[in-house]
Amino acid sequence: MRRMSVLLDRLKRREILVADGALGTMLMGEGLQAGDCPEAIVLSRPKLLLEICDLYLQAGADILQTNTFGGSPLKLAEYGLQDQCETINRRAVELVREVAGTKAYVSASIGPTGKILQPYGDTAPAEVEQAFERQLKAILSAGPDLICIETMMDNQEAEIAIRTSKKLAPQTPVMATVTFEDSARGFFTMMGTDIRHVASSLSAAGADIVGSNCGNGLEKMLRIARELRNCTELPLAIQSNAGMPISQKGKLSYPETPEFFKKHVPELIHAGVSIIGGCCGTTPAHIQAIKEIVLARARKVTE
Ligand SMILES: [Zn+2]
Repeated sequence: MRRMSVLLDRLKRREILVADGALGTMLMGEGLQAGDCPEAIVLSRPKLLLEICDLYLQAGADILQTNTFGGSPLKLAEYGLQDQCETINRRAVELVREVAGTKAYVSASIGPTGKILQPYGDTAPAEVEQAFERQLKAILSAGPDLICIETMMDNQEAEIAIRTSKKLAPQTPVMATVTFEDSARGFFTMMGTDIRHVASSLSAAGADIVGSNCGNGLEKMLRIARELRNCTELPLAIQSNAGMPISQKGKLSYPETPEFFKKHVPELIHAGVSIIGGCCGTTPAHIQAIKEIVLARARKVTE
């Protein structure tokens, strides 16, 4: 209960918190193959996760994410690992806590189930709810500080995750971030929902923090942040990719450098964003660049 008030009070006071950067692309750099289950790393190579997590803490992240993005039983079933749901999720939260202690918040990641909800797909909302409930129970048993529902492409699926989290643990803050695609008519989710509708659906479902992650690059994220700011009073979170990936000799690289982040982060702060971190392609150097800007601003505010 105290944790909830601390995190949200800090945001209410307009403090800016720094989240961490990519995990998936870092794991690929460490040999994770396309067909491997990223969440199973928690069982096979826990030390690697501790190391990456510690790099982000050293870089200045106030919020550290768990390796549970695809930890719903529906997603784990793609690798035949649905029976490991409890172990994987619980252990992943415990690992981040080992690194974070009381120095950073442990943010439990929840990504899409990979299913498309009726009527567009064949999955019933109740099935998705059951899956999130199982993942969340495992996550909550290890006491995270924050639930981070992220990279959502369907706000209806995000709503189910938010409501389930609030049902199981009303006092644990929930952050929900959606991925938008740019078009001639503006930004929409893959399911065709605009920013205004996404913002109202997430907040009606009970999200404490809303925002956007993945896709795009920082400049488009700035436009998304400004639009979101006009649609909601809730604190905003932006976790941008380091630009859109470029494929070179079968390897993906991301064009936006830590210096580029340094240049644009002040604009995100100016747009009213409260939590700034990275997504695909970002590294501890990107997080350090964000932290430098945030610290410089804090010095200015106290002067
Ligand atoms: Zn991403």
